[in-house]
Amino acid sequence: MKVIVIGGGAAGFFTAINIAEKHPNFQVTILEKTNKLLQKVKVSGGGRCNVTNERSKPSELVHFYPRGNKKLHSVFKRFTTSDTVTWLNERGVDTKAEVDKRMFPTTDSSQTIIDCFMSETQRLNINIIQNQSLTALHAKNQQWEIHTAKDVFLADKVVVATGASPATWKVLESLGLEITSLVPSLFTFNITDDRLNDLQGISFNEVQIKIVSTKLEESGPLLITHWGLSGPAVLKLSARSAYELAERKYQFEVLVNFVGIKPGEVKQHIRNYQEANPKRKVINYPLFDLPKRFWERMIHYCDISEETPFTELSKKHVNKLVEELSQGRYSVTGKSTFKDEFVTAGGVKLSEIDLDTFECKRYPNLYLAGEVLDIDALTGGFNFQACWSAGWVISESVC
Ligand SMILES: Cc1cc2nc3c(=O)[nH]c(=O)nc-3n(C[C@H](O)[C@H](O)[C@H](O)COP(=O)(O)OP(=O)(O)OC[C@H]3O[C@@H](n4cnc5c(N)ncnc54)[C@H](O)[C@@H]3O)c2cc1C
Repeated sequence: MKVIVIGGGAAGFFTAINIAEKHPNFQVTILEKTNKLLQKVKVSGGGRCNVTNERSKPSELVHFYPRGNKKLHSVFKRFTTSDTVTWLNERGVDTKAEVDKRMFPTTDSSQTIIDCFMSETQRLNINIIQNQSLTALHAKNQQWEIHTAKDVFLADKVVVATGASPATWKVLESLGLEITSLVPSLFTFNITDDRLNDLQGISFNEVQIKIVSTKLEESGPLLITHWGLSGPAVLKLSARSAYELAERKYQFEVLVNFVGIKPGEVKQHIRNYQEANPKRKVINYPLFDLPKRFWERMIHYCDISEETPFTELSKKHVNKLVEELSQGRYSVTGKSTFKDEFVTAGGVKLSEIDLDTFECKRYPNLYLAGEVLDIDALTGGFNFQACWSAGWVISESVC
């Protein structure tokens, strides 16, 4: 049985290794377009490779996949994050979880994952052919003919794991497979606003951020950057709203609640503080544990003088402050990538494959894994986990 995996990235390697391991009599080959292997794994997680996540319950995991979501429940039931940890452990790679549940190799180096995958391909005699770019796929006499820019290969089973590759999507489209529209996911918001000027580096533990005139809202930590707003709350919102924001050409307004409580509660808290500390100067006492520089900026923005004590805060000033802290309105005028870590939303529709096998419904013996599919996730190791789980399921299905 000849199996050809197209794409020498995360999904391609994991699938090839598991197929070769479970089916020692299969001849497994990886075809890679470039002269580099596992390139994205190398740069992932800032060079540390956020290989998976500590959350392991499928019902919890699926919420981190804006595209894929509940459809992935049965996939994670078969191979979840804790299986990834065991798989790596069994091959000599120890992992650790950080407080936010992201998991990394204990070496803090993506090279550890690459070394593991490379030594597994050697042990299992997986053939790797580089500089072979898929150009066409033809089903012929129960086999697949794989055309690359240079050669033609024959295989009994083909796994397409080419990531976000427009050329491959065209090849798959020519086979009649439906591809959803493709838009960037996981980006930060560009905002030019005096309220944020020179405050880069200031972070907030728990904010709520909402896109005006929509129900799109997320919460979590927030970071002010040179360009605008970033941090988990913004990245989550960008991923969940990827299509809506693309439609708006990345021009929209957001409401930011920097304190994470309702405006009425913010007002009450200020009133209580006024009563308890009437003589304190407002500018010197940041409420809600807000960073001092941010609090000062808000006080100036609300036209509250530096000399004003809490007792002299006018109703108008309190209302303005409440609004700025709990419903600050900002105009977003574009997007930037987050630490170069971008993901494409969209790909081959999941309705085209049987999620019990990752085999194409229209084409037996043609499998798809990784970012080529319409699956993407938030940051946290979830994107790689989708590759590992798909690869595992395929390895159990090919026979
Ligand atoms: C900078 C960065 C950091 C990231 N960090 C993390 C992280 O820490 N954790 C996480 O979970 N996710 C992370 N991601 C996302 C993650 O890297 C991807 O989700 C994952 O790599 C997708 O794997 P894949 O195998 O589907 O595609 P890829 O890893 O992109 O691999 C596809 C391979 O196919 C090859 N190919 C393409 N077209 C062809 C063709 N026509 N013929 C033959 N070969 C072809 C490509 O050259 C490539 O080698 C990061 C992404 C980026 C950009």
